[in-house]
Amino acid sequence: MEHITTPSWAMLAYLASGVLFILALRGLSSPASSRAGNRYGIIGMVIAVVTTLVVHFPMVREEKVPPGPNFPDGSFIFLPDFASFGEILAAIAIGGLIGWVTAKRIQMTDMPQLVAAFHSLVGMAAVLVGLAAYLNPDAFGIATGGIIEPQSRVEMGLGIAIGAITFSGSVIAFLKLAGKMSGAPIILPLRHVINLGTLAAILGLTVYFTQDQSLWVIATVTALAFVIGFLLIIPIGGADMPVVVSMLNSYSGWAAAAMGFTLHNTAMIITGALVGSSGAILSYIMCRAMNRSFISVIAGGFGAEAGAGGGEAREQRPYKTGSAADAAFMLEQAEKVIVIPGYGMAVAQAQHALREMTDILEEKGVEVKFAIHPVAGRMPGHMNVLLAEAQVSYDKVFELEDINSEFAQCDVAFIIGANDVVNPAAKTDKSSPIYGMPVFDVDKAKQVFFIKRSMGGVGYAGVDNDVFYMDQTMMLLADAKKMVEEIVKALD
Ligand code: NDP
Repeated sequence: MEHITTPSWAMLAYLASGVLFILALRGLSSPASSRAGNRYGIIGMVIAVVTTLVVHFPMVREEKVPPGPNFPDGSFIFLPDFASFGEILAAIAIGGLIGWVTAKRIQMTDMPQLVAAFHSLVGMAAVLVGLAAYLNPDAFGIATGGIIEPQSRVEMGLGIAIGAITFSGSVIAFLKLAGKMSGAPIILPLRHVINLGTLAAILGLTVYFTQDQSLWVIATVTALAFVIGFLLIIPIGGADMPVVVSMLNSYSGWAAAAMGFTLHNTAMIITGALVGSSGAILSYIMCRAMNRSFISVIAGGFGAEAGAGGGEAREQRPYKTGSAADAAFMLEQAEKVIVIPGYGMAVAQAQHALREMTDILEEKGVEVKFAIHPVAGRMPGHMNVLLAEAQVSYDKVFELEDINSEFAQCDVAFIIGANDVVNPAAKTDKSSPIYGMPVFDVDKAKQVFFIKRSMGGVGYAGVDNDVFYMDQTMMLLADAKKMVEEIVKALD
């Protein structure tokens, strides 16, 4: 069977969608342009999908069928390329409906695990497309007389392996982010030997696959890749999870690109490469922000000790608590307030009340700035999205390295639902799972307000926080939204 040739108008359409995807990524790099970026992405995807359908469906192929009851002489018939229009439309309708219902119903706090779940679907799609191409290579134009071309076998092996790793890794990330599995690292004995051995077996078998097209070879590659995805992610926990999320995003892109080669689909190669490389760049940025080496994170818990993190015994130490009225009184007196939002703000959906509070303070002549840690919340950019939703002006929002030196001159550090990102153990305690991560120097502020629901709750990394017990800290123990609404009332 010949390779499927793509007409030049379709190549141009794929190029246009590639350019739109690049514009989408550009737009998504800032909250101000993110809506436009999203629109570019949607238009690019519509062009890519419609082009693929138009290219493949009118094209009918001549096929000689074996003699049978319907075609006693082995007649020539015309077959559509991959499936019937009805099947494709039904698949689009089912997938579109699930996506629409999910988008309508999803809570903002569940977005991180939803992203992980979507990555797992991309991984599984790559595995299924790869296996379909293996089982019916002629329909994909990658074989002559059932013998798959060696180059396609490598693409298929790699695509399936990356897809399977993405799938099982994303399922574990989903369980950890949804709190259905401990967020702490799970360290297996001899894990590096097992991981390296499994990876070597996958690569070795993929090379062997070019010589032997047997089902057992590709089935073993698939099974081992599912296992290694699981093994690579379970030892990663605590503060390294953000890197895992962006890394799986990158893997899902490479899986799609590999399948683009198998299907000879330029748009898929471009899109996959864009997602793969932008995810890799994001992982690198997150690693730098966390002061981690990329290799140590992807190697899975290098340097992490068994049992580190997760719910260590708490000492009883004295701390001060206060009310909304106390906080309102001191906030009014302040000249400069720095707000540090974290995951708890997302849980409480306190961003609108917070914006109202900062508006009132500004009217009273108080300078208010927002300090965003790169891993605050549960997904990259989580806090920026929430503050943008509440229409907090971007020029008041600062990254860690741009604002950290200002805590020494601020009157109030207002911590709302953040915990790990202000924990000084990251600077001082070598045994802490967050050691080495840069954190906000809130201890330098004259007064610290710390909003969380109870003294019992811990941050994602599961460790105690010395900031609770500092002389200048007042714990405001309540749901973040409720507390801020009460502060707003007291300020009024
Ligand atoms: P943390 O997870 O460290 O802390 C959250 C805090 O919010 C806790 O103190 C919790 O205490 C409090 N909280 C929860 N719900 C509420 C509520 N309704 N009202 C008030 N407070 C509440 O958050 P940070 O943002 O500081 O740190 C993020 C952590 O997540 C880091 O360890 C990071 O590595 C990790 N992570 C980040 C990802 C990312 O991409 N950004 C992805 C995966 C993990 P209490 O329960 O007592 O209320």
